[in-house]
Amino acid sequence: MVKQTIQIFARVKPPVRKHQQGIYSIDEDEKLIPSLEIIVPRDLADGFVNNKRESYKFKFQRIFDQDANQETIFENIAKPVAESFLTGYNGTIFAYGQTGSGKTFTITGGAERYSDRGIIPRTLSYIFEQLQKDSSKIYTTHISYLEIYNECGRDLLDPRHEASSLEDLPKVTILEDPDQNIHLKNLSLHQATTEEEALNLLFLGDTNRMIAETPMNQASTRSHCIFTVHLSSKEPGSATVRHAKLHLVDLAGSERVAKTGVGGHLLTEAKYINLSLHYLEQVIIALSEKHRSHIPYRNSMMTSVLRDSLGGNCMTTMIATLSLEKRNLDESISTCRFAQRVALIKNEAVLNEEIDPRLMIKHLQKEIQELKDELAMVTGEPRTEALTEAELLQLEKLITSFLEDQDPESRLEVGADMRKIHHCFHHLKKLLNDKKILGNNTVSSESKDQDCQEPLKEEEYRKLQDILKQRDNEINILVNMLKKEKKKVQEVLYLPAKDRREFRHSQSPPFPPGNPEEGQRMPLSSAPSQAQDFSTLGYRSSLLHQKTGMREEMSLGRQEAFEIFKRDHADSVTIDDNKQILKQRFSEAKALGESINEARSKIGHLKEEITQRHIQQVALGISENMAVPPTPDQQEEKLRSQLEEEKRRYKTMFTRLKALKVEIEHLQLLMDKAKVKLQKEFEVWWAEEATNLQVNSPAVNSLNHKKPFLQTSESQRELSQLLSNKSDVNARKILPSPCSSPHSQKQSSTSTPLEDSIPERPVSSIPLTGDSQTDSDILAFIKARQRILQKKCLGSN
Ligand code: ADP
Ligand code: MG
Repeated sequence: MVKQTIQIFARVKPPVRKHQQGIYSIDEDEKLIPSLEIIVPRDLADGFVNNKRESYKFKFQRIFDQDANQETIFENIAKPVAESFLTGYNGTIFAYGQTGSGKTFTITGGAERYSDRGIIPRTLSYIFEQLQKDSSKIYTTHISYLEIYNECGRDLLDPRHEASSLEDLPKVTILEDPDQNIHLKNLSLHQATTEEEALNLLFLGDTNRMIAETPMNQASTRSHCIFTVHLSSKEPGSATVRHAKLHLVDLAGSERVAKTGVGGHLLTEAKYINLSLHYLEQVIIALSEKHRSHIPYRNSMMTSVLRDSLGGNCMTTMIATLSLEKRNLDESISTCRFAQRVALIKNEAVLNEEIDPRLMIKHLQKEIQELKDELAMVTGEPRTEALTEAELLQLEKLITSFLEDQDPESRLEVGADMRKIHHCFHHLKKLLNDKKILGNNTVSSESKDQDCQEPLKEEEYRKLQDILKQRDNEINILVNMLKKEKKKVQEVLYLPAKDRREFRHSQSPPFPPGNPEEGQRMPLSSAPSQAQDFSTLGYRSSLLHQKTGMREEMSLGRQEAFEIFKRDHADSVTIDDNKQILKQRFSEAKALGESINEARSKIGHLKEEITQRHIQQVALGISENMAVPPTPDQQEEKLRSQLEEEKRRYKTMFTRLKALKVEIEHLQLLMDKAKVKLQKEFEVWWAEEATNLQVNSPAVNSLNHKKPFLQTSESQRELSQLLSNKSDVNARKILPSPCSSPHSQKQSSTSTPLEDSIPERPVSSIPLTGDSQTDSDILAFIKARQRILQKKCLGSN
């Protein structure tokens, strides 16, 4: 059992604007417990924090200042938790702080750079690396991803996400068994056998969450996300299974409602936007007070799910994320205060061991058998009934493995049953006789000698050959894949323009014409995971189409608007940057693949040379009647050291290729996510534009004016046609600035995107209304649009 208080860490986020930075200092030396001091300027202190104090000091296990990178955070905060998780203890890491303070950045990571990946991807990488190294146990890993929004649990990995909206999915509910253990109904567990599979699940959940988010629910700031890795381990043959859970939690924003709130009511400072965080605080307060018998875990779903992580069987770590800009000082101070209370909570983590009943039965059966045998020996009453078929088979297996075991100490354990002992002797006698007959007939004594002389070398060669074959396969598959992709790209380059567009569509349907590299995806993988790579890629891209409804064909106007939107959006820079990095990584992988090929053939040559030398020496020895020298000569030494060197090189390159593969996979996932986000933001913007136009355009007003009742489908069509054309002109003007929130609160039921299904018609066929104001508007549009198109054509020529 490990008794430990919850570990608290602080991380300070770099300010968006330098001049807004508040004053704080970090003291690392103070009796080895670092402290963070926040200075509140008088003008601010007078207002809303506290008009007496100016400086606030808080102690943390460690404080990470603005320049701490993601690697440092992982190494210092997450790695120790992951380590104890691997030995069988439950672990929880949760990030707490106001919206925008860096919780998601810390837990999941940034959406731009590979180096920005956060605790979850790094922990997954670490866990799978360690599991691979340890062959003494059998491990099984499962992943679940839960979102709690408004006290309602949703499974972010529910396969039905593909078909339905978040609201239609069954709610995840809490069940409590008689031992007060919590079980989550409707939360799916997905087995992940590799880092890649686990990473795919993370991105799948994140994408599902992003798509389900609407400006109304703002899931990313108001919901909690709990990514859980479930690990079970068992030693081969043992009946004891260890289970451990690792929760990585991104909590909702902790901001409190301003003191003077809605409708002039004075709200207390302790009121959160998020009620379940309020309950979390109540649980924390109850736990940190001595002699409290009742802890109100049941008040909210989140505290119920995390019950073990707070005052229970778990090693828990909290990261207080702080945005120390002047306007955020009060929120930062409450985050720190919360952390101080959390630090008082003691947890008692125990190893979660369980007996597997099936294995236990087997063990007991064996023990009964042994006891029966012993009893028979002691009482001197030998058992006379014949051995069963199963027993005979078992004995023969034992004899075979005993004979094959090279260990001189190995023993043939058959227990105290005389019938078995007799049977063993009979069987051995039979084997010996068979071998004698066989030996006389076929095996020459000469070759037998040789067998004895070099059994180890032979085995070693065989092993090496096997490894070589495997690597050969891997490399061939890789090279083939690279070739295929190269061919595809070349084909695209030589296709006529029209076909090229179609090709792009087929390669990357979610994204209308634009960049020729859009469709260029190159799954890079080693042989064993190839099949799964393809399946996850398919999974991912089908997710993209289905999630964004992008399968529907966009009208030409929308496509153009999307192109402009894309070009001006900050995320396109990220996508383009990542595309460049991906390209580099691909060529690096290709070059590595070629070098690996070279190294492999060099290894083959060197081995061949060594074998040849051996044969020559043996031949020389026979012809000159000289003994073969027992140690290798200088030439052979040289060859061997070259061989070792080449093998080392091979291994290094292979490791690098593997790391590259993970990086490429991650970058592709990041790009996919960015693309979905871009598409989603475009849809929102498009819908807003449609509403704005409906409200503001004199043309539309007059249309509405003329037809105050329900619009006919014809006029709706005209309107949407108009909008789909007009948006081009206004696109550059109205585009949201990259920093501003794309989700304005403006969206209402009237802002649903105009149907894509409305047939596309040439601009010239729009019937004019007869109203001169409206008509001149429409004509102005058409002209402006034509100018843009002309400009575009000239530019592209
Ligand atoms: P939260 O999840 O707490 O609302 P985010 O993690 O989304 O906040 O962070 C808000 C913004 O700040 C994001 O654009 C993120 O990339 C950036 N950010 C947060 N922490 C850091 C950091 N330590 N270094 C650089 N950028 C950061
Ligand atoms: Mg967040």
